[in-house]
Amino acid sequence: MFGPTIRILSSNFHSFSSMIKQYFNPLAVAEVIKLLFSKPSCFLPHAKVENIAVIDFDKLKHFGFKRVLFDKDNTLASPYQNTAFCTEIKRSVELCSQAFGRENVCICSNTAGSEYDKKKNYVAAKELEHIFKVSVVRHRHNKPNVTFREVANCFMIIDTAKKIDIRPQEIIVIGDRITGDVMFGNKLGMLTILTKPLAIQNENYFIKISRFLEQGILNVIETFGITPPKNPFVSNLPEFRNVIIKKHE
Ligand SMILES: [Mg+2]
Repeated sequence: MFGPTIRILSSNFHSFSSMIKQYFNPLAVAEVIKLLFSKPSCFLPHAKVENIAVIDFDKLKHFGFKRVLFDKDNTLASPYQNTAFCTEIKRSVELCSQAFGRENVCICSNTAGSEYDKKKNYVAAKELEHIFKVSVVRHRHNKPNVTFREVANCFMIIDTAKKIDIRPQEIIVIGDRITGDVMFGNKLGMLTILTKPLAIQNENYFIKISRFLEQGILNVIETFGITPPKNPFVSNLPEFRNVIIKKHE
C-alpha cells in the first residue's frame, strides 16, 4: 500500500541528493577558504564589464594575450541552457574568435564538459561546441579546481600534431562568478574579467547564496587595498580597463 509513496519519496530524495552533489562542491569550498587566507588577491578580477558584448577583443589581443576562455552559464547563456543568451552575445564570441583565432577560444563550464555531463556522453558540451563553434573543456573537478592541463588539452584539440607552447599568463578568463571564474583564473596565473550575470531569475538557491557571499568577500578584500595578481601584459590596470571597452563612434 505504501509502495508508490515510498517510490516517490525515494525518487525525490535521489533528485535532491543529485542536485546537492552538483551544486555543493566541498572541494571548491575548501579551495575558497584556503585562498581567502593565503592569497586573497585571487578574488579580485583585473577588469569588470557589463557583459562580453562591450569588450573590444581586437584591443584585448593587442596587449599580447593569445587565448580566451569563456564561462558558459550567465556569461554566454542563461543557466542550464546551451543556446546563446542573445544574438549580441553570440556575435561577440564570433568577434573574439576572429580576433584570436577560433582554435584559441574555448569554453570552460561547470555544467557542460563536467563529470556530470560525461555521464550523458558530453551532450551539453557537444551542443555548445556546435552553437558557438569553439571547443569546450572536459574536466574532472569543477572550477575553481579545473587544472591547467585540462585547459591546455582543450586548446590543443584542434591540432594535436602541432606543438603548442601554452602559458597561463597569455590566457584571459571571462566569467560571471568570483569563486568559479576569477579565483580559478587568478590562481592559475591567467588574466580575469568579471561580467555581470546575464539572468539570475532561474538560478537555484545555492548559487544565489554563493553570489551574495562572494560579493561580501570581494567588498571586504577591496577595503584592504589589495590588488589583482600581476600580469606581464598589463602594466597599467586603469588604462587596461578603459582601453578594452568598446567606444561608441
Ligand atoms: Mg557562470
